[in-house]
Amino acid sequence: MSAIDRLTDDFPHGTPDGYDRGCRGRICPSTPSCLAARVRFQGDYAYRREVLAARAEAAKPKPRRGMPPRRIFTAEHVAALRDLNEQGWSDNRIAKHLGFSNSNVSRRRDEMGLPANFTGRPRKNSHTPDREGREQAHEGESHV
Ligand SMILES: [Zn+2]
Repeated sequence: MSAIDRLTDDFPHGTPDGYDRGCRGRICPSTPSCLAARVRFQGDYAYRREVLAARAEAAKPKPRRGMPPRRIFTAEHVAALRDLNEQGWSDNRIAKHLGFSNSNVSRRRDEMGLPANFTGRPRKNSHTPDREGREQAHEGESHV
């Protein structure tokens, strides 16, 4: 523990933790000092409980940093989803365009009763030769 560490903003001055982490002298930016907090921690049961509760709180998992805030899917998003789906956009592409997850867009598209598009843009011929062959045979039969 260097003196520099004790000058950082997140050093717990004024608490027994500050004392434990090396701030044991009279030069402490906090009033009461870490040393005073340590002495109080040893002798003041209510203060001790308070400190322990604060420690437990600090140990709780926090929301992950860097996670984007939850976005709201507005009526405009719904309209855009409908438009883009009609233009043949895939859920993936719509999701990227609107800034929502693929699963979010897929679920909403399902709820809207719209069909899934599996390619970025509609193909001129979406049938495989095999499937088309069978369909043509079928059409041929039905027209006889
Ligand atoms: Zn201190």
